Amino acid sequence: MDDQLGVFSNRLQQHGYRLTTARRVILEALLASGGHITADGLVEVVRQQSPGIGRMTVYRTLEILSELGLIRPVYQGTGAAHYILMENGHHHHLVCSGCDRVIEFDECVLEEMGRLISGRFDFQIQGHVVEFFGLCADCRRVSA
Ligand SMILES: [Zn+2]
Ligand SMILES: [Zn+2]
Repeated sequence: MDDQLGVFSNRLQQHGYRLTTARRVILEALLASGGHITADGLVEVVRQQSPGIGRMTVYRTLEILSELGLIRPVYQGTGAAHYILMENGHHHHLVCSGCDRVIEFDECVLEEMGRLISGRFDFQIQGHVVEFFGLCADCRRVSA
């Protein structure tokens, strides 16, 4: 947790962004959530701690973190984007279309494929997001 905060704040500072008090609060809330949070969800959490931090500040911080590749918006259905943490450069999800539950898993078989693709398109890959969608055990039980 502290390490993550270190990684994120170092990256900000390397790119010339100051770690203001507001940004620190936003980062801490984001990391404590473990990701999978919408911008508005994050605004709520942040406001509970520091009512003075504006919505635009939260949005702008999420934008900066996305540009730096530390987080990524993931769009599911028609809802608002969820932000996921990308500090490891990759992220794997099972997304339930029944209840919107998101299960993360660490197993990665894509590095080989990445090498292949990056050669073919002369493209330097920095990370990936994989989503498998379907129905979780609970939702299958309901619809059965
Ligand atoms: Zn489900
Ligand atoms: Zn992976």
